[in-house]
Amino acid sequence: MSAQMKDFSKNKAFLIDMTKCTGCRGCQVACKQWNQLDAEQTEFFSGEGYQNPPAMSEKTFTRIKFRDYQKNGQNEFAFYKEMCMHCNEPACASVCPVGAFHKTEEGPVIYKAERCIGCRFCMIACPFGVPKYEWSKALPLVKKCTGCYSRVKEGMKPACATTCPTAISYGPRDEMIKEAERRLAAHPNRYIQKVYGKDEAGGTSVIYLTPLPFDELGFKPVTLRPLPGYTWQALRLVPAAFLTVGGGLSAISWINHRKDRLKKEREAQAAQTSEPKED
Ligand code: SF4
Ligand code: SF4
Ligand code: SF4
Repeated sequence: MSAQMKDFSKNKAFLIDMTKCTGCRGCQVACKQWNQLDAEQTEFFSGEGYQNPPAMSEKTFTRIKFRDYQKNGQNEFAFYKEMCMHCNEPACASVCPVGAFHKTEEGPVIYKAERCIGCRFCMIACPFGVPKYEWSKALPLVKKCTGCYSRVKEGMKPACATTCPTAISYGPRDEMIKEAERRLAAHPNRYIQKVYGKDEAGGTSVIYLTPLPFDELGFKPVTLRPLPGYTWQALRLVPAAFLTVGGGLSAISWINHRKDRLKKEREAQAAQTSEPKED
């Protein structure tokens, strides 16, 4: 079904108001906890700012970027919560030859690991640099923010939105946009007068309000048009060698080995959740 024909009336979105963010990074911790993501070696100063870890990765689906600036002679901090934008017309899904990425009607763009053949088209196509590959593993998967789909489809909010004390609202996308526009009108001096994500890349399920220009906070410049049409033009030029699966394994044996890995991980998870709890 084409994106135009989809029913997005149930589409939910994040409204992330960066003027209300305190930089507590509770969202980063909640994301790690809910998704059972390992900690990773990191350093405080990345050269780019004060954020930690220095970049999103296969073990870090969201992070807060810090930017210091001066306002009325005072030192101030501005923040930017990076994560998957859950695009309405996701470039990652449009280029995946086996349909491993999928925009759900609730909003999150999800990844079905068992379908993935490891071509990494999605990583090249995403205008926000979101999908990451488990390069350190013999049988790697693509990893990214799931939009906490397992929670959202049960009527709950994503873990990061539940934890955030101040900055993240979550609800029907049209209501989040109306609320963002209400805040812009009510506080013209507090915000850059733009709702980022309303139209970017054809519209996204993550929308932002910020106190500083978007490029100064590190937002990527993207076209307002949906990206799937452009991405195929660019991907025609990708050398075939880049897209082959690695190592000495043939593609089919590699995919089968990876299916085994997924099966074992799911069995281990099921065993963990069914273990009786100690008093
Ligand atoms: S939990 Fe909320 S206030 Fe804390 S860093 Fe994340 S977005 Fe900012
Ligand atoms: S931000 Fe990238 S990974 Fe996320 S839905 Fe959009 S194209 Fe896909
Ligand atoms: S929506 Fe879920 S997976 Fe995505 S950043 Fe928030 S907690 Fe992490």
